[in-house]
Amino acid sequence: MAEQKKQTDLMEKLVSLAKRRGFIYQGSEIYGGLPGTYDYGHYGVLLKDNIRNAWLKHMVQLRDDVYGLDSAIFMHPQTWVASGHVGSFDDPQIDCRTCKNRMRADHVLESFNVSADKASIEFINTELDKLRSTKKLKCTNCGGVDLTPARRFSLMVKSNLGSPVDTLTEENVVYLRPETCGGIYLEYKNTVDSLHPKLPFGIAQVGKAFRNEIAARQFIFRTREFEQMEMQYFLDPKDMDKSYEMWKEIRFNWYLAHGINKESLRWYKHEKLAHYASQAFDIEYDYKCFGGFKEVEGIHARGNWDLSQHSKFSGADLSYFNEETKERFIPHIMETSAGLGRMLLMFLDHAYTEDELGGEKRVYLKFPKELAPVKVAVFPLLKNKPQLVEKAREIYKNLRNDFSAEFDDNGNIGKRYRRQDEIGTPFCVTVDFDTVEKNAGVTVRDRDSGKQERVKIEELPIYLKNKLQ
Ligand code: ATP
Repeated sequence: MAEQKKQTDLMEKLVSLAKRRGFIYQGSEIYGGLPGTYDYGHYGVLLKDNIRNAWLKHMVQLRDDVYGLDSAIFMHPQTWVASGHVGSFDDPQIDCRTCKNRMRADHVLESFNVSADKASIEFINTELDKLRSTKKLKCTNCGGVDLTPARRFSLMVKSNLGSPVDTLTEENVVYLRPETCGGIYLEYKNTVDSLHPKLPFGIAQVGKAFRNEIAARQFIFRTREFEQMEMQYFLDPKDMDKSYEMWKEIRFNWYLAHGINKESLRWYKHEKLAHYASQAFDIEYDYKCFGGFKEVEGIHARGNWDLSQHSKFSGADLSYFNEETKERFIPHIMETSAGLGRMLLMFLDHAYTEDELGGEKRVYLKFPKELAPVKVAVFPLLKNKPQLVEKAREIYKNLRNDFSAEFDDNGNIGKRYRRQDEIGTPFCVTVDFDTVEKNAGVTVRDRDSGKQERVKIEELPIYLKNKLQ
């Protein structure tokens, strides 16, 4: 998908809200920032944990055929030679000679409706020349026309981990993984030997990946350090079509189950495939902040390329023996691969709502309840009335054992509601004079409607539990 899509006003609002409310900050901001990196603040962490846990629950906990893994970020350098990353994990880069802006040439072409997915550098340069000759090719930053030809730029990030010298050479380079699935392939054999699963089975993991992205300028959509949630499903090639369809459906439904509208999702079919792949579809979400659909997750049928290559390069036998059919073969793989940050941005984008409540404009994040960073906030109506504060604290302490809860007595009650609205907290509980003087319970305010109802204190946990289900 073209990167040149116009970022809408919503993007500015999301970036600003994310910072103001402690979700996401630019990485290393006090030093002027480090492009392509972001730090997650308190609410960002809670939201990210909820998305990750919802994915893990669905992909591992609720299934009998998928196992968990947390593999090392650093792997034997041969891993990435075998996988083909060292030789060819690159993107076409062009530079502006005037302002030094770096651009992805395929994305520039796509903004002119020239499809350049997996295209050769020769094709890309021919197409760029056509645009140059009609004076259409311009820097996306300064509008200058003095641009370099496209060249391949490796996305692999290097380190000298464990090396006795600090210069990087071909002999001592250790890569930071560009995708988490590499670790899954390396642990396929240990998983089979220790857990004895029968095909088909999957291994899932969530973890950091690193890519030296040419242009990382789209908030957390494309960063140089990011988290992936990947599952590799190992199978007999005879089962590929059936499993592929099954996982396509499972993954699409996951988004619907977490509140994303069907109209905001679509499939993108890759026409150009890697030589070993037989099918590749992306789930795309209609990011309002970009004004169009962009990839959130890829679902790929990868043949037996990965295990064959690792078997060849490592010398390990990665074949599978089917006891029933007495057949020995290298399992084929289908993968589901999603970016956690991209998904978080999707949920932020989808949740952002502006409306009017009680004659006042407000902004709130209409997160699905299970993903909301804070489920319930507890307030005393007034900060300077000890009997209200004491009761509210007691209720808060009771609730926080079972719910992600927050206590707030700062500012007037309207301000506190607005703050929780912007965090996306589904329920606000207020202790008022009727609570302590008439034993009349507390008020519970619903984020979306702004409506309040009275609930007895002893019934509060079960009330919230039912509402949050
Ligand atoms: P794109 O075409 O957008 O560069 P990709 O096809 O290279 O993505 P994959 O290699 O298939 O992506 O990675 C799987 C998933 O990981 C993507 O669908 C995306 O959600 C996430 N992802 C990939 N690169 C990044 C990145 N630089 N920043 C954040 N998430 C990423």
